[in-house]
Amino acid sequence: MTLTPSDKALVPFVSVDHMLQLINDIGIETMLKGLAEYIEQDFKRWPQFDKTPRVASHSEDGVIELMPTSDGQTYGFKYVNGHPKNTKEGLQTVTAFGLLADVYTGYPVLLSEMTLLTALRTAATSAMVAKHLAPKGAKTMAMIGNGAQSEFQCLAFQAVCGIDTVRLYDIDARATQKAARNLAGRGLNVIACTTPEAAIEGAEIITTCTADKQYATILTDNMVGAGVHINAIGGDCPGKTELQRNILLRSSIFVEYPEQTRIEGEIQQLDPDHPVTELWQVILGETQGRVDNRQITLFDSVGFAIEDFSALRFIRDQIRDHAHFIDLDMLADPDDPRDLFGMVLRSKAS
Ligand code: NAD
Repeated sequence: MTLTPSDKALVPFVSVDHMLQLINDIGIETMLKGLAEYIEQDFKRWPQFDKTPRVASHSEDGVIELMPTSDGQTYGFKYVNGHPKNTKEGLQTVTAFGLLADVYTGYPVLLSEMTLLTALRTAATSAMVAKHLAPKGAKTMAMIGNGAQSEFQCLAFQAVCGIDTVRLYDIDARATQKAARNLAGRGLNVIACTTPEAAIEGAEIITTCTADKQYATILTDNMVGAGVHINAIGGDCPGKTELQRNILLRSSIFVEYPEQTRIEGEIQQLDPDHPVTELWQVILGETQGRVDNRQITLFDSVGFAIEDFSALRFIRDQIRDHAHFIDLDMLADPDDPRDLFGMVLRSKAS
């Protein structure tokens, strides 16, 4: 079957292969820095966006979520899953794809893989936030949980925050060995640790990025000293947290979108009116971030739709210079918009 070209409205599609080519062309450090800039720009215009907690469909094994937002000109959404048991079956814990559309016509303008892009955007967001909250001159990060996201996190903190040492720990030593191997030769001092206590030694930044569908205790209260910045990534679902509650009570807590974080983040363990600070206000300079060097700052990260929107916006701009995409014939768009049936007839005739 063939269609006349005028019956098509082609949509650029960035496949996994294209995304890998983009990463290799642009360079992962440049890409992480670029993503961090786009995300920061969008945090600075936070009030312009439609915002809603993501729409989650929970099952015993995991969650499937839709994450929509719009800035009034462009609409975006991401489809993402979170299935901690998947790696045991040789599958990813998190996979995703996403779309941007033109608000004026409603037509999609970009469809993209987002499994790699989610790892990049999560890392870029973490590092951008740490730039505002971590102790000045921080050089060492503990990286607890050495799965799919972990190398991206380490490289983003190196590129955006200037850390030079990562101390790795995972409950599964093979994951730590994998991360250490992947990070070798990138200018980072990589130290594989066999306990979480060893991993946090001397670390000014602690990233927790584990996957377990329970109220886990990755950090206990006595492990967290004054002045550190905690970047808590893995607690991102009801009933799925990483930090002992007492840590939260000693920390200044910073969140993306409180309405979503109260459902999904570490703060689900606290009273619903426990004070938290919205990051966009810190980034705009409307409120203070870190105020002294004994303060424990906590980024209770769950991942918000605007970060995916920024990431897709970044990719849409990049494919203008790096033509790593194909045009996808995914919209029926006849010349006479009311003659949709005519397309069926024309396809039979040709
Ligand atoms: P993954 O399954 O690839 O890796 C998770 C790692 O955690 C595994 O290596 C596992 O062995 C380790 N682990 C589990 N329990 C542990 C423990 N008690 N101590 C130390 N290590 C432990 O998952 P991933 O793709 O790297 O994602 C990690 C987490 O981050 C997931 O929970 C995911 O939902 C979350 N995530 C959050 C965001 C966000 O924006 N906040 C984005 C992406 C992923």
